[in-house]
Amino acid sequence: MSPPGLPDNRADWALKPFIEALIVAFGNKPRRDEPLSGHTASRLGGPADVWLPVNSLAELIEAVKLAQHHNTPVFMLGAGANLLIGDAGIRGLVIENRANQVHFPSPAEVGESTTLIVESGAVLPSLARRCAKAGLSGLEWAAGIPGTMGGAIVNNAGAYGSDIAAALIRAELLSPDGERVWQPVNWFEYGYRVSHLKQKKGKGGAGWVVLQAELQMTQAPVEEIQAQMDVFNERRKSSQPSGATMGSMFKNPPGDYAGRLIEAAGLKGHQIGQAQISPVHANFFQNLGGATAVDMLALIEIAQATVETKFGIKLELEIEVIDEFGQKIR
Ligand SMILES: Cc1cc2nc3c(=O)[nH]c(=O)nc-3n(C[C@H](O)[C@H](O)[C@H](O)COP(=O)(O)OP(=O)(O)OC[C@H]3O[C@@H](n4cnc5c(N)ncnc54)[C@H](O)[C@@H]3O)c2cc1C
Repeated sequence: MSPPGLPDNRADWALKPFIEALIVAFGNKPRRDEPLSGHTASRLGGPADVWLPVNSLAELIEAVKLAQHHNTPVFMLGAGANLLIGDAGIRGLVIENRANQVHFPSPAEVGESTTLIVESGAVLPSLARRCAKAGLSGLEWAAGIPGTMGGAIVNNAGAYGSDIAAALIRAELLSPDGERVWQPVNWFEYGYRVSHLKQKKGKGGAGWVVLQAELQMTQAPVEEIQAQMDVFNERRKSSQPSGATMGSMFKNPPGDYAGRLIEAAGLKGHQIGQAQISPVHANFFQNLGGATAVDMLALIEIAQATVETKFGIKLELEIEVIDEFGQKIR
């Protein structure tokens, strides 16, 4: 029999006790066979066996622990802005992190430099705007990045010469053993759009969940911070497409730009099915509506092969390609 409120589309009885426990803990929030295309920036991704949005750190921790107790794999989803999830979706539990409290210092605590505690589901553009209003500088570069703090910490998100590594003092994580631990910034081994959490994903899953971050900010006039954010946002608007994408598909190779190379290889505007290399910026691959992850992967492969043949440069993905088991396969 199906648990109440959840259609039992699949004869997967192993999940049944876990789903029943989730319903006891979270009521009607968990959804069975939820299409992840509704939860990613590219509008791609097949169904999650079970999808659960969480609104607080307590809920996030409870969901992870329940899944561990039932031996159910967990995939952490932020805003889904840096992922290509396959058409088969993800088995097990996908947690969508909406724990987004930000602990601003009181006016009395704000000095020339000050710190901020941000939960991992906080979304960067609204966080950057709130910081600007509070006269806190350090996240202007993040105003146009449609991801969460958790995704930024895993990827070392950045733009315009800065990145999260520059602001992060330490982050609290849930370890694979279920312990809450604060790790200093050097623990993450940050490089260009990379951390050791991201690297480990392909090798059995990192198993670490980012809970919250402590960031270093400096005090600055509100108008100055706002003006800088406006410059960055304007630059973004004039150079990037506005449709369903994953942001930059490839990392820029040393001394060059992935977009320039793809364009020079004659691929700007190239289309497979409804997946297209953007005619606006060749490092953005767009779902024109109704694309599949297979189309998108084929486009990625054509871009990599053509650029390598023409220029001898192997383009490295900036996005993560996620398989059915929640593993990063590229
Ligand atoms: C239009 C557009 C523009 C973009 N511009 C930029 C840019 O300028 N610079 C840049 O760096 N990126 C950019 N991106 C990419 C993306 O926004 C960033 O990489 C962002 O940091 C991803 O965050 P997310 O919440 O969407 O993560 P997701 O894509 O949901 O997840 C990314 C990875 O982090 C993991 N993860 C997420 N949350 C947690 C958590 N709490 N604990 C453990 N693991 C977690 C996921 O499992 C996954 O492995 C852009 C994307 C788009 C669509």
